[in-house]
Amino acid sequence: MKAIATLSALLSELLFSCKPGTLPLPVPLASSYQIVLEGGWAPPVEALDAVLDWEANVAVKFYFPEPPGPAPGTCENCIYATLSTSAETEAVCFGAPAESGCAIALPLLTNSSAIWVTQDIPVPVRKWAWRHELGHAMGLFHDGPGTVMYPKHSDASYVVTAQDALQWRRIRGSGEDK
Ligand SMILES: [Zn+2]
Repeated sequence: MKAIATLSALLSELLFSCKPGTLPLPVPLASSYQIVLEGGWAPPVEALDAVLDWEANVAVKFYFPEPPGPAPGTCENCIYATLSTSAETEAVCFGAPAESGCAIALPLLTNSSAIWVTQDIPVPVRKWAWRHELGHAMGLFHDGPGTVMYPKHSDASYVVTAQDALQWRRIRGSGEDK
């Protein structure tokens, strides 16, 4: 019974959480990024919502180039975003159970990042997942409970917080008092 309870707690932690093993490698600490939607979708409303939230809190701009957008290897500071099913996220995120998404850096290939945001999760969680994975794509690491960069949605903020903005500025060395 105890083993089952432990397993169940572990699974619920992983469900809708961002896999710790997908913490970002060094990614370009740019002030503007192109979000290239794999498959050429129009930006989903959750993505626009996340973009506006980050832009309102830190000195960053995001652009959605016309599909298909720049090919990998030809684009600096691109974020290649895939709208994935939980099974697809699981496959690309190193076999973790269904998650909200993951992010990896592609510094050798394109000096860019790739993110997957799971779609078969509730809309509020998707809104958090976009903010969280875009944070990784901009170089942010996991942070404490109550921030958007906390890896478990249940204890995360669903909106960008002052602490997230502080981390963004700190890793860019632009001080804490902006
Ligand atoms: Zn994460």
